Amino acid sequence: MHELGIARNIVAIVCEHARGAKITRVTLEVGELSGVLPDAIAFCFPLVAAGTACADAVLDVHVVAGRSRCRTCGTDYAFPRLGVPCPCGSRDAIRLSGDELNVREIQLEAA
Ligand SMILES: [Zn+2]
Repeated sequence: MHELGIARNIVAIVCEHARGAKITRVTLEVGELSGVLPDAIAFCFPLVAAGTACADAVLDVHVVAGRSRCRTCGTDYAFPRLGVPCPCGSRDAIRLSGDELNVREIQLEAA
């Protein structure tokens, strides 16, 4: 499962930032078009977090909606999956959001 590797990377990044502190919450941003399944990440996270500073962390996954801007008519429109055309029919568009896979916030236990 591809999400297992992603979860492992997230835990590694978060633990590195925490510099030994215990992590209580991790907030992720996952774009609709990133190809990453939020449920699969939520399932894998505790498995790879076990035994690390993330072991007791709560994982919050925020799904970021895909949006594009049409180069033909200038409209911003919802782009929940690849290949969705602008309401005007054009497929010539700039991706505005939806590719995200970011750690947005890390909360550490107060010392
Ligand atoms: Zn258009």
